[in-house]
Amino acid sequence: MQNQLVLHHPIFNYISKASEELGLESYVVGGYVRDLIMQRPFKKDIDFVCVGSGISLAEKTASLIDPNIQVHIFKNYGTAMFHAFDTDIEFVGARRESYQRDSRNPIVEDGTLEDDQNRRDFTINALAISVNKNNFGELLDPFNGIDDIEKGIIRTPLDANITFSDDPLRMMRAIRFASVLQFSIEHSTFEAIKNNKERIKIISQERITEELNKIILSKNPSIGFGLLFDSGLLEIIFPEMYALHGVDTIRNLSHKDNFYHTLKVLDNVCEMSDSLWLRWSAILHDIAKPPTKKFDENHGWTFHGHEFLGSKWVPNIFKRMKLPLDAPMRYVQKLVLLHLRPISLTKENITDAAIRRLLFEAGDDIDDLMMLCRADITSKNKLKVKRYLDNFDIVEKKIIEIEEKDHIRNFQPPISGELIMETFGIQPCKEIGIIKNQIKDAILDGDIRNDYDEAYQMMLQKGQSLGLIVKKNG
Ligand code: ATP
Ligand code: MG
Repeated sequence: MQNQLVLHHPIFNYISKASEELGLESYVVGGYVRDLIMQRPFKKDIDFVCVGSGISLAEKTASLIDPNIQVHIFKNYGTAMFHAFDTDIEFVGARRESYQRDSRNPIVEDGTLEDDQNRRDFTINALAISVNKNNFGELLDPFNGIDDIEKGIIRTPLDANITFSDDPLRMMRAIRFASVLQFSIEHSTFEAIKNNKERIKIISQERITEELNKIILSKNPSIGFGLLFDSGLLEIIFPEMYALHGVDTIRNLSHKDNFYHTLKVLDNVCEMSDSLWLRWSAILHDIAKPPTKKFDENHGWTFHGHEFLGSKWVPNIFKRMKLPLDAPMRYVQKLVLLHLRPISLTKENITDAAIRRLLFEAGDDIDDLMMLCRADITSKNKLKVKRYLDNFDIVEKKIIEIEEKDHIRNFQPPISGELIMETFGIQPCKEIGIIKNQIKDAILDGDIRNDYDEAYQMMLQKGQSLGLIVKKNG
């Protein structure tokens, strides 16, 4: 492996010049170096460390690029950042850190480059490249990070037990990097995660969720969730998902392990979509299977109503995880609730009315719902899988046909509450809801067309049968 690297980004020459003017040494560190060596895509953020004041280096560099650049300074942390060349440029002065038991915020002293590399979480993140004039582009790799990149290993530079106990967020980061980079975690490093798992409790939920979402956005999140499970962290940070694990057997009949099934569904969905929220729907689709599990003498294992209970759990899980409680939560709730509908459609004669109902309830999320349902087929029986998928093809064809004909996807009932009130000269009351529902049902069932005139006639008729008198005929 070469120890001289080619640095392309325009920022490097500016940093080099600023460092020379200030008389200090500067290095690129962290993710940029790791990703450069691994030839992974550039993520538009670069971290620099200098032996001296990171804040002064930031200010000097910014002034050389453009005096109008706004430099954000975080005095308490001794760090600074600015945005230039479409990149977040981050600065820190080399430091030595010492930790107390109850906090992940260390006591910080100025240090050497070596001190700074020692405080980094993993060998693959402790690589530094010089941007100094005398050895520009030279790689400094005190912990054989290059070796670990080549072998695909996550390992802490110093004693793993101390590293994780000092800052337990690193346990989540280790698993996140393993999932994102498809690396394995070196044995003693992983043992140290197991030993320190309880310490995750001192980390804020926001930080935990940030790492969890990065795991979920990786190519095969099952790697990360498998490690979370095996380390014991999952039981602490996500007990509902942990509870999916396990198989019961009665009279030689076993149900599938719902944890590993969920991971398979999640990986399947990841092949079809990058959407974080579709992925969360996959994670949560069977979340209420454990409490709804029953053994039925005639039908074997059943999980009746798990989709209803699961969708009811979504708000609490989102709240606890500090995930957004607006549109994303409602979307996940909807997909969890509806995830059995397409498959149940394929088991009966597929009527237009059933398709219209599904379209009405799923709305614009119908395509995502169909993806989730396809991903949910994890049977090992190839014939069964083919039969289901073929049936889905039929359902999807019908969905397109009916949508073209009836425009149910963004269906707005043609008769509004105001019109009903005006027509019968009434104030808000429950009859209005009854009439609106009857019209909606009639349209979805195909009894009348999705059309104003037909719906208006129906309103007159239903209103009169409820004892209302027409005041104004439109
Ligand atoms: P990415 O940007 O892809 O998340 P990264 O490695 O750049 O990956 P950052 O969180 O940006 O991660 O941190 C930059 C560098 O700072 C890391 O590479 C690592 O050297 C160091 N670092 C970040 N967080 C920690 C931590 N909790 N403990 C020790 N070192 C850390
Ligand atoms: Mg970074």
